[in-house]
Amino acid sequence: MGYSLLNDRIVTDEEVVIHKEDRGYQFGDGIYEVIKVYNGQLFTAQEHIDRFYVSAEEIRLTIPYTKHKLHQLLHELVEANEINNGHIYFQITRGASARNHIFPSADVVPVLTGTAVETSRPFTNLENGVKATFVEDIRWLRCDIKSLNLLGAVLAKQEAFEKGCYEAILHRAETVTEGSSTNVFGVKDGVLHTHPANNFILKGITRHVVLQCAQEIGLPVQEQAMTKQQLLAMDEVFIASTTSEVTPVIDIDGQQINGGQVGAWTRKLQAQFETKIPAPVSI
Ligand code: PMP
Repeated sequence: MGYSLLNDRIVTDEEVVIHKEDRGYQFGDGIYEVIKVYNGQLFTAQEHIDRFYVSAEEIRLTIPYTKHKLHQLLHELVEANEINNGHIYFQITRGASARNHIFPSADVVPVLTGTAVETSRPFTNLENGVKATFVEDIRWLRCDIKSLNLLGAVLAKQEAFEKGCYEAILHRAETVTEGSSTNVFGVKDGVLHTHPANNFILKGITRHVVLQCAQEIGLPVQEQAMTKQQLLAMDEVFIASTTSEVTPVIDIDGQQINGGQVGAWTRKLQAQFETKIPAPVSI
């Protein structure tokens, strides 16, 4: 039997009933997070929880639980579902109330839900790399908020999928922003490049881990946007996210990167990332 998070309780999946006028359902009026579980342990949980509260604040939604309480609930969600390797998804909406764009009255309580999934790590993609395609970034101008509104990302990812690609690399005019659900990195002449953390991208937690790894292995970082042409001319390209980790990109719209081979810096970053993965707890 599967268990879910519903507000401040762990319940069976069947017990989760969402109101048809939930604002998440009608307006995408809410925010979410995904946290990876390695060997039964939540990875960078505090960073994800902190970002959850920042996203909530940016949309003027008050989460009715402390960060500590939420952390505890997420831990219980993992335990209840006996997740060893996988991830948890959780979201909070502004609650259910008769449809009206204006915020509901203060007595309407936000609705928190969460799910845990057992999945294996993406070993094949990590090893061989993936293909990507450029797609115009038609999203709104607050991509730093992890909003439930994902239509721009959904349409881009679908376009990539239909072209046989794993990821859509988004661009505004000639400037590369990020992937539809990942941050984009390039290595050129021994320097790691990625878009600065501003309103045009989500400040990925994995992005932060990658920048830490780069520092640890002596790879200098330049947080500056790249054009599409500059990205194509990089020695190495990779994407990073909670579930994709450090995934090499070996082909963009049929143009090979590094001759279609995973680059040496990407391999070093992957290895450094690996050292941060929580080890199994011995009993
Ligand atoms: N950018 C976007 C648009 C995303 O949706 C995601 C993943 N949710 C990321 C970047 C990567 O963020 P993280 O490393 O925190 O998973």
